[in-house]
Amino acid sequence: MEKQLQWMALRKLRDELKRTRRCLASIRRKGRVLALTMSARMKDVAYESRAKWRAALAEVVLDHDEGPDGVCWCGEKIPCRTWRKLEETNKGIHRQVEKWASWDDKRLEEFLGEERSTHDYVIDEDEPADDPADTGEVSA
Ligand SMILES: [Zn+2]
Repeated sequence: MEKQLQWMALRKLRDELKRTRRCLASIRRKGRVLALTMSARMKDVAYESRAKWRAALAEVVLDHDEGPDGVCWCGEKIPCRTWRKLEETNKGIHRQVEKWASWDDKRLEEFLGEERSTHDYVIDEDEPADDPADTGEVSA
């Protein structure tokens, strides 16, 4: 009788172990799916954020263009301080913005418009909410 009870207890434990293993396998599968989803989402957010900053940079720098009097709209000779500072800060980005400057208005507007419209919802995520220096600033 005792032997039979031990046998039943053993079977119960074995069944429990099987259920636990199935449960763990399911958790692992869900974890992998979640990790892939999170990774893809983080990548999307990173690309969207980069696109937003790129569009903002392009808008600011490309405004520094040669006016009818042969100087920049800001009043400085070409290249003005904004362009010089950009080149000094990052030559690669400077080259990229120069490339955009060579585009016609339609192409540039499509590019910037697309960057803006596709990624507008990221703007809030990028705001450094805990930065006291930002208090009172007008947000985008
Ligand atoms: Zn300028």
